[in-house]
Amino acid sequence: MSLVQIENVHKEYMLGEQLVHALRNITLSIDDGVFLAIAGPSGSGKSTILNLIGCIDTPSQGKILINGRDVSGQTPDQLADMRARTIGFIFQTFNLFPVLSAKENVEYPLLQIKELSAAERRERVNKYLGIVGLSKYGGHRPNQLSGGQRQRVAIARALATHPKIVLADEPTANLDHATGDGILQLMKEINRESKTTFIFSTHDNRVMTMADRLVRVEDGVMTSSGLAEKATPAAVVREKILQNQQIKSLGVESGSVPAMAIRGQVNRYLFLENNNVYMATPWHINTEAGNWVVSSCFDDVDATAFIHEHLNARDAFYVDFHKLITTARQQGINVEGWPT
Ligand code: ADP
Ligand code: MG
Repeated sequence: MSLVQIENVHKEYMLGEQLVHALRNITLSIDDGVFLAIAGPSGSGKSTILNLIGCIDTPSQGKILINGRDVSGQTPDQLADMRARTIGFIFQTFNLFPVLSAKENVEYPLLQIKELSAAERRERVNKYLGIVGLSKYGGHRPNQLSGGQRQRVAIARALATHPKIVLADEPTANLDHATGDGILQLMKEINRESKTTFIFSTHDNRVMTMADRLVRVEDGVMTSSGLAEKATPAAVVREKILQNQQIKSLGVESGSVPAMAIRGQVNRYLFLENNNVYMATPWHINTEAGNWVVSSCFDDVDATAFIHEHLNARDAFYVDFHKLITTARQQGINVEGWPT
């Protein structure tokens, strides 16, 4: 069974006297866990599709099933409840409450889930602000945050309710390329780690290529649906890994950071920033308490020698990572496979 099933859906709006066909006969099934892009020019019907899936709007004709349940038969209260439990939204314009702090914005949708205690709410808020890398910004209001940070708050808010589906309507449209790429990578990581389904709309070609599945709409009609046109051959991926692309500075300072905090930092960095270390470096690190082990992802690559080479070349990522490892060692952690 598909997570979302759209069957012969039409949507019409009255614009003054004129009937606007926003969607014509859309049929689409979306599997659980997918990272799906809906692509099309402005006015093609992307937002309308997302709003229908998100039960913000209802079709003029046709059926929408979420988790096998036909949403057209539901009362407004049932729909609101389903929305609160099943769906998280991320918008182009972030849509944060300007008077609320980042924490309060993330907490807001949790207030709808009555069975969560205040302590559980706080725990979730902290957890998701941490996942999007904004633990230190919980007290900031949206106008005290950059565009990319605001969108990260919006992602944390969308995820905090543990939705099955995250709907993101042109989430990168108001961000510069680099920030937009970071946001997409973050969404993709979360998709891969938590298996949350992401459905996002875009008119940006670069953004489309990050999807596992691509649906195109034009003038309210679906023109194609299939795998994203990007299948990167394994050899190319391997080459990129060996060249060590996508690696950024960690921005850490050595000092007396408690061991657990370093471990958190390492894990968070690997998880969020590094586009998964399995993808971006030919080695990975297992950070079991007290004993960290670096190992190679490829039979023919010696992880320690590889790291050594990059340290010698003063590669910023490796230099920063080395500080973390050194601090960890000072705290009594045994780190195997990392050069001294
Ligand atoms: P996209 O998100 O791809 O830019 P939309 O889904 O917002 O496109 O809109 C699709 C079409 O439906 C457009 O022609 C738009 O003008 C029309 N439309 C969308 N919402 C409304 C509305 N509430 N009332 C009238 N027309 C609308
Ligand atoms: Mg739109």
